[in-house]
Amino acid sequence: MTVNAYGAHAGDQPLGPIAITRRAPGAHDVEIDIAFCGVCHSDLHQVRGEWAGTVYPCVPGHEIVGRVAAVGAHVGGFAVGDLVGVGCMVDSCRSCPDCDAGLENYCDGMVGTYNAPTPDAPGHTLGGYSERIVVNERYVLRVRHDPSQLAAVAPLLCAGITTWSPLRHWQAGPGKRVGIVGIGGLGHMGIKLARALGAHVVAFTTSESKRRDAEALGAHEVVVSRDPEAMAAQGRRLDLIVNTVAAPHDLDAYLSLLKRDGTMVLVGAPSSPHPSPQVFNLIMKRRALAGSMIGGIPETQEMLDFCAEHGIVADIEMIEASEINAAYERMLEGKVKYRFVIDSATLKA
Ligand code: NAP
Ligand code: ZN
Ligand code: ZN
Repeated sequence: MTVNAYGAHAGDQPLGPIAITRRAPGAHDVEIDIAFCGVCHSDLHQVRGEWAGTVYPCVPGHEIVGRVAAVGAHVGGFAVGDLVGVGCMVDSCRSCPDCDAGLENYCDGMVGTYNAPTPDAPGHTLGGYSERIVVNERYVLRVRHDPSQLAAVAPLLCAGITTWSPLRHWQAGPGKRVGIVGIGGLGHMGIKLARALGAHVVAFTTSESKRRDAEALGAHEVVVSRDPEAMAAQGRRLDLIVNTVAAPHDLDAYLSLLKRDGTMVLVGAPSSPHPSPQVFNLIMKRRALAGSMIGGIPETQEMLDFCAEHGIVADIEMIEASEINAAYERMLEGKVKYRFVIDSATLKA
């Protein structure tokens, strides 16, 4: 089937309308009528060729929510009309230790929702800035929020799980002091989730103008990282830091805020490297520097269910598909409050 989408033909070209094809649903496939798709900073990195290996045409989008439009003959878990989501992956090998552990995100054969090899035309996956998508049921998530919240659920599929996974893995909760660095799409979800998990949350921002917002999102303390005294006051106080910043920066400024045995997890994925941290900043306090990539399917469902139960959604600004290029520029300026979401109805020709 042919569907309307938004994408780019080269890294130095703006996104525009593009017609793409989707396979007919196979026996285990779910066809989804996409209602909304969040706009992740990774979309920008990928479509502009800032990470290696972008193939064109590139249709980004991996924060997908919508309703099931059709199911294959052997699909057991979903029925037409169900509210569902698709995140950053649409397949994996299904037989390695990572897949067996429900950590398909770390499978060497993980197939990203866009820019990954596929037998479908045009030979690489095309993402959620589109009207419909067809996905194997194993990689489809159930959305239990009220349907009226659907647009604001979309960002949970990447920004939500990418912050949830390290918060859970490093056991953020009561008695823990957790820093969230960068208040953008990921960071604002990190604040909400860490707070809901019971941690003491300290938000770090380069933007004084986000102070009030960060408090409203659930931060107990807000530190403007350009203020040396405010940074020094947090020295050796944090158990865990989730760093979402999308650009290279001085990691030592944050590592020195960790207690003995504290960990800073990098989830931001800048296109050029950070300056190396000081080794002594790690060894003197047995600190750890770690990374984390999105999350597996079971933990994504766990996060969605937790959010439905606790009434958590993203703070969004809805845009039409034609506004995407301008939205990217605002994202680069750190001026998104706090996630753009494309209304898929505006993709219609
Ligand atoms: P975003 O909405 O643009 O937020 C990034 C935030 O970082 C900004 O709002 C800003 O917050 C802060 N920042 C400080 N200095 C910056 C600078 N020079 N350039 C850009 N941002 C700066 O982006 P996002 O969608 O949350 O994504 C953040 C990063 O995570 C991206 O690199 C993305 O590719 C990556 N990512 C990784 C994964 C994973 O699995 N590991 C998943 C999704 C996204 P303040 O104004 O508060 O300083
Ligand atoms: Zn993303
Ligand atoms: Zn695997």
